[in-house]
Amino acid sequence: MRIEEDVIIIGAGSAGLTSALYLARTKFKFAIFEKEMVGGKLNIITQIDNYPGFPSIDGFSLILNMKKQVEALGVKISKELIKGINKNEEGFEIVCENNTYLTKSLIIATGSTTKKLGIINEDKFVGKGISYCAVCDGFFYKNKEVVVFANERKGYLEATYLSNLVSKLYLVSDKNDDDYEGNLTNLKKMNNVEFLSPFKIKEFIGVDGLEAVKIQNLENNDEKILEVSGCFPFTGDIPSNYIFNQLGLDQNRGFIKANFNMETNVPGVFVAGDIVDKPLRQIVTACGDGATAATSAIKYLNKLKK
Ligand SMILES: Cc1cc2nc3c(=O)[nH]c(=O)nc-3n(C[C@H](O)[C@H](O)[C@H](O)COP(=O)(O)OP(=O)(O)OC[C@H]3O[C@@H](n4cnc5c(N)ncnc54)[C@H](O)[C@@H]3O)c2cc1C
Repeated sequence: MRIEEDVIIIGAGSAGLTSALYLARTKFKFAIFEKEMVGGKLNIITQIDNYPGFPSIDGFSLILNMKKQVEALGVKISKELIKGINKNEEGFEIVCENNTYLTKSLIIATGSTTKKLGIINEDKFVGKGISYCAVCDGFFYKNKEVVVFANERKGYLEATYLSNLVSKLYLVSDKNDDDYEGNLTNLKKMNNVEFLSPFKIKEFIGVDGLEAVKIQNLENNDEKILEVSGCFPFTGDIPSNYIFNQLGLDQNRGFIKANFNMETNVPGVFVAGDIVDKPLRQIVTACGDGATAATSAIKYLNKLKK
């Protein structure tokens, strides 16, 4: 079945849902597709203290509010796995498992995912001792010993969350100097946190699940084995850009470049949220991008009609 839309939004995180909110108040026909869970990363955030209007709220409640708000305007969020996008003379063809959608314009709001370390046994022990989300899996390590590998803000935040649950936390880092907003200093003050730097993780050891983590000192190559039940590696995010490769979008390390109107170098393609090449990836900036991208898409469609 081929279905025609004016705009297709890919991704129903905070960025995509905000674009939907703005488009739902116009005459344009649009669809919003989500491959996993509506809300994206909000699903894993236990406490948000920096979203205006909500002094403190958990991610799930914020999603419910956002979802209710768009659904009240008649928006239906469709579960679709997008397999590819082709550009043609009329616009874009979005190829999903069962349907092909034709659209005049596109808002990419696909966010990002966590980067893996790519070392021995990592894939084997995911879910059996290795996790990339403290908030999702931290509870399983309550009163146990864990390693957190962190060298950036997100990792320090996750380590802070875990330090309140576990009996002992080894904070392993390959650098010493990136103390974002004092998170590292605060962690060093916790009496159950031992800081090991500069070290890298060399190997995950175990039979059916993780039993220990081998780390190596980057200055003298000395190795240590830490016997732990869990390991949480945090080394940054990977942009979810794999389906857009054929579009020829300008990128920086896989994050899509846009001007302040959220327009990309390809006419008709707009971006919003964590997938954008930008300095601050937060809910409030994702929502701001979503609103701007929708407004730009509306202007683009109005021009096409003339
Ligand atoms: C642990 C953690 C704590 C955080 N804490 C805060 C905080 O306190 N305050 C704050 O402001 N920000 C915080 N952030 C950052 C914030 O969560 C993100 O900046 C924001 O949620 C990004 O929204 P987004 O819509 O761009 O992306 P996402 O939330 O990643 O949503 C993208 C959506 O697109 C979907 N998608 C991807 N590819 C496809 C595809 N091919 N087809 C269909 N759908 C697709 C994904 O499944 C996902 O649902 C935190 C992030 C993390 C990881």
